Amino acid sequence: MKKNFVYAFADGDGHNKKLLGGKGANLCEMTQIGLNVPPGFVITTEACRAYLAKDSLPPGLMDTVGDEIGKLELATGKTFGGGSNPLLVSVRSGSALSMPGMMDTILNLGLNEDTLAGLIEQTGDERFAYDAYRRFIQLFGKVALGIDDDKFDMHFEVVKQRVGVKADIGLDAANLREISEKFLEVVHRETGSPFPRDVHEQLRLAIEAVFRSWMGKRAVDYRREFHITPDMANGTAVNVCTMVFGNLGDDCATGVGFTRNPGTGEREMFGEYLTNAQGEDVVAGIRTPKALAQMEVEMPQLYTQLVALRDKLESHYKEVQDYEFTIEKGTLYCLQTRNGKMNAGALVKTSIDMVDENLISREQALLRIDPEYLEQLLHPRLDPNTPVKPVATGLPASPGGACGKCVFDADLAHKLGNSGEAVILVRKETRPEDIHGFFAAEGILTSRGGKTSHAAVVARGMGKPCVAGAEGITVDVNRRRAVVGEQVIREGDIITLDGSTGDVYIGAIPTLPPQFSADLKTLLGWADEVADLRVMANADTPEAASQALEYGAMGIGLCRTERMFNASDRLPIVVDMILADSAEDRQAALDQLLPIQREDFFQLFKVMSPNPVIVRLLDPPMHEFLPTESDLVKQIRNLGIYRDVIRGRQIALASIPGALDSPEAKLSLSEEQVSEARTKKRRMLQKVRDLEETNPMLGHRGVRLGITYPEIYAMQIRAILEAACECGKQGIDVSPEIMVPQVITSQELGRVRTIVDETIARLEGECGHLIKYKFGTMIETVRACTRAPKLAIDAEFFSFGTNDLTQAVFSFSREDAENKFLPMYNTQGILQDNPFEVLDTEGLGQLIELAISRGRAARPDLEIGICGEQGGHPESIRFCHAAGLNYVSCSAPRVPVARLAAAAAKLREREY
Ligand code: ADP
Ligand code: MG
Ligand code: MG
Repeated sequence: MKKNFVYAFADGDGHNKKLLGGKGANLCEMTQIGLNVPPGFVITTEACRAYLAKDSLPPGLMDTVGDEIGKLELATGKTFGGGSNPLLVSVRSGSALSMPGMMDTILNLGLNEDTLAGLIEQTGDERFAYDAYRRFIQLFGKVALGIDDDKFDMHFEVVKQRVGVKADIGLDAANLREISEKFLEVVHRETGSPFPRDVHEQLRLAIEAVFRSWMGKRAVDYRREFHITPDMANGTAVNVCTMVFGNLGDDCATGVGFTRNPGTGEREMFGEYLTNAQGEDVVAGIRTPKALAQMEVEMPQLYTQLVALRDKLESHYKEVQDYEFTIEKGTLYCLQTRNGKMNAGALVKTSIDMVDENLISREQALLRIDPEYLEQLLHPRLDPNTPVKPVATGLPASPGGACGKCVFDADLAHKLGNSGEAVILVRKETRPEDIHGFFAAEGILTSRGGKTSHAAVVARGMGKPCVAGAEGITVDVNRRRAVVGEQVIREGDIITLDGSTGDVYIGAIPTLPPQFSADLKTLLGWADEVADLRVMANADTPEAASQALEYGAMGIGLCRTERMFNASDRLPIVVDMILADSAEDRQAALDQLLPIQREDFFQLFKVMSPNPVIVRLLDPPMHEFLPTESDLVKQIRNLGIYRDVIRGRQIALASIPGALDSPEAKLSLSEEQVSEARTKKRRMLQKVRDLEETNPMLGHRGVRLGITYPEIYAMQIRAILEAACECGKQGIDVSPEIMVPQVITSQELGRVRTIVDETIARLEGECGHLIKYKFGTMIETVRACTRAPKLAIDAEFFSFGTNDLTQAVFSFSREDAENKFLPMYNTQGILQDNPFEVLDTEGLGQLIELAISRGRAARPDLEIGICGEQGGHPESIRFCHAAGLNYVSCSAPRVPVARLAAAAAKLREREY
């Protein structure tokens, strides 16, 4: 069967954007629902592909186009190429996805000397006609014939200067006529042939140029950058549309509108227009357009029509629309519509409002928002009303706005930041040793690296704004400056980052506080009603827990107890515990830690009551609590020097008569004190050397520590259960859950379980009430997945630790992967995503499914969740839903994202 390559606006399928392109499909749709669209037709994306494959238009295409032009002539009463009432058209591109970087629209096609005369006669407006002509020659010359704008602009400037005007409004018909003639000469000179007079020839050249633009460098780069695959958009359509003129007098206008305010979501007439102008003038900024509200006064009747147009667009598309219109001699035409792009706040508000207005259902309200957007609402953001241009743009690596003094190394950032200054850490790239600078900085800017670079990953983990890989900036740490184009940024200069867009600004831009609005609460409430998955948070302190609670976390899915060990009042005790030579010494340190941990847990349980709190027993290798070997060696050397100095001082004091009795003589540490400190450091050094492992992350950590030093786990278990007991006494309803890390065999779990049982047996007597708790395991080793049924004997719940599990499944470490080869694997498509951010459903996913089905076979009511970073990622959440998990747990700022994603996973479950 012969393919139909051409559809009239009255016939094309408005839902088939792949075939007709977004613009074309909507022009068809609008025509068919009775909106006033100038007549026209669409040439399909299939025709584009056919043209590109053979490097020539499909046979017969131009005949069909000719037939369609004939229909336009009938509909309009004009003639294409006709001398008295000429039909002019625009030729516009448009693929399935809106794609800047494709070709420009050609307006006024169909003009030549004959039709120009007709146009003058018909409109009686010579200036208008020559203006249309010169615009057409330049656009056609540029787009269809590939002639640089400069070649035309030169002549334009000459005439403007001679006449002494700045803008083209000041030129009269004769000037424009002269310019048109010059332009025709330019075309002749540049192409070696005269400007095509034959209007059908003009149309054919324009169509071919649009098709070719699909493979133009700008378009190809754009598709690569934004991962637009042929599956999403394959070829561009061509829209041929009868010209209407907004520049035929003061009863004419052109403008663009939004059906709601895209900045606030408010339901109001929003947009701009210009009287007596053509469409591109509004965008080009040659004249300052007026707000649509002004039109109500200036053209009240047309304003009423425009309101009706707006209403009809929304009630039909059931989505906020971004539309273009033109008014020709009192008649309103709609030239384009598409779904409006809004910021997250406006998306949330419009979702709630449109449900209230019965325009959309709650399900639609949830599904129209990309969950990722919500994170924008939880960070300070730059005031969008500040009219400043960015000086550079990098990757939006971690969302939020940040403003502060530019600082080029982590030490200085640390120093200034801790003294209360707002600083931005600016580096070529960052390394693990810069971490103290991250803590102290408001935001991080790097000139190299991608979204998985060290800076990006760490900043996201901390919830700090980060722009990574801003290649336009040259950072020169030695000279303490950065250069962007002509501008030099010196250390101490104020800069502003927008981690949500990747933009970098010089100077301070006001930031707006995060907005967890009532509307967002409502929306997420609807999401929770729909979703099967519960969303929990990873939080280690009562403060983090209350924040997570505010964002709607339904419990704590992961509390890492070692974070509690690191606080400055605990670390010395933890160090004593590690240094202990005997079980008694160790117990003494643990006895000091017990009340501290118990209080930590008590506070946490209280905040989260009555929601579950899953506490993970000690996980990292011990050496992480001790200084590094090289630090210790340095400290010991310095202490040795200090001891010698004290000795020397003693000698000096002794040799000065009476000096030993002076007050200063007593003002220093004694040799014994320093020696003692040195001995302790030496023991630490010895311990650090003892603890050294080739692969610490695969070494003595997790439950293996708990087995070799059972008293540590015993202390933690006791602290958890005693805190629960105390809560019970105070009438606070708590549900602690004890989770064991790094498990490989049920033997390990059994041993820890015994400690729990013994503790409970002892406690419940003293406590006087039943302590409610659960016992479970992390699943973060490959063996644990395969041994799931055995583990499920003791474990009442599983929690997939997908960070370690991903490392285990890929057999590479995250740090090395992200710093060395993963970005390249991603850009070259060897791996689609970073598996530490997006769950590897194809590989790891199979292992997870296996563990779930076997685990549940052994214990049908087994609770299963995930607590790795991927637990906050929408695609991964979709998998978790499909796999039948009970909950996902993620960092607090991801909780709203996860709640919406969990609802979307449920609503879309049939699509997969
Ligand atoms: P873009 O995709 O860049 O918006 P368009 O194809 O929409 O390109 O056209 C560019 C400008 O020309 C817009 O302002 C549009 O409204 C205007 N325009 C396009 N076709 C016509 C037409 N047939 N009559 C009047 N103006 C038009
Ligand atoms: Mg447009
Ligand atoms: Mg782990």
